[in-house]
Amino acid sequence: MGNEDLVNEVLSLKRERNAVILAHNYMDYDIQVVADFIGDSYDLALRAMETKAEVIVFAGVRFMAEQAKALNYDRTVLAPDPGAGCTIADALNADMLRRAREEYPNAPVVLYVNSNADVKALADYIVTSSTAIKVVKKLSSDVVIFGPDSNLADYVAHMTGKRIIKVPPNGKCIVHASYTVDMVREARAKYPGAKVMIHPEAPLNVLRMADFVGSTNQMIEYARDSGYDEFVVGTEIGMLNALRIKVPNKTFHPLTTGPSAKCPFMAMVTLDKVYRSLRDMVHKVEIPKSTADAIREAFERTRKLLEG
Ligand code: SF4
Repeated sequence: MGNEDLVNEVLSLKRERNAVILAHNYMDYDIQVVADFIGDSYDLALRAMETKAEVIVFAGVRFMAEQAKALNYDRTVLAPDPGAGCTIADALNADMLRRAREEYPNAPVVLYVNSNADVKALADYIVTSSTAIKVVKKLSSDVVIFGPDSNLADYVAHMTGKRIIKVPPNGKCIVHASYTVDMVREARAKYPGAKVMIHPEAPLNVLRMADFVGSTNQMIEYARDSGYDEFVVGTEIGMLNALRIKVPNKTFHPLTTGPSAKCPFMAMVTLDKVYRSLRDMVHKVEIPKSTADAIREAFERTRKLLEG
């Protein structure tokens, strides 16, 4: 089937199945154009709660689809490729977290959304890259267990001055952890008028060189509202699709086009797999209800802390 036929088939199946497609900012362009919502993983799970669709197709990696299921437990959530993992989420298991709790019994556990469902269910607070600093600052404890991303943990420690116990000590994103100071220097030399935006999953020495550090959604806001016209984008290369769709009148360059620019797990999710999952209603995400309840409670606790 040609790409145009595939797009039309997906659009028609969406209507037939009363489905919505949620696409992460890193997805390929042809998936983003058939999506009902494009955003980061938490934002998308919340958007799903606003729709009446019976079926949610989550075009992203597995922990994101699990999260959408936890927050929309009565709906059918499809993960077009359930084998698509994440090096951050897969770095932490429940036993490692339990051991950290035993060692630091008075420290709250703050987990990044990039965690698998069984681990996320053990968190006291669940944060995104845009809320991590605010949440840790608001906690009364000066010692905080934080995971699974080690670079985000370093950034949070740097910005809050608190003692951060990393679980595990070395969870890393295969894309962002590969960024180097030289990449930023080269991009600044090549695009001297551009502002450099970098995701906080990158190493701290690289973040120190950025004009703006933020989540994918914060990058979209910065690009749209900052008054600058040209940007170097320090996150997964699919983000350029989202920026070009959402901020069409500005110019974006990738920080790198090298081998680490594209996440191999995100690349596993293709339009063809989105089509097949909807056509055959396969790859339904199943998590225990108790896990979903615990995740929702941790999100609710986090929301209250942020609003308090
Ligand atoms: S880009 Fe990094 S954080 Fe995102 S899914 Fe890939 S490995 Fe995980």
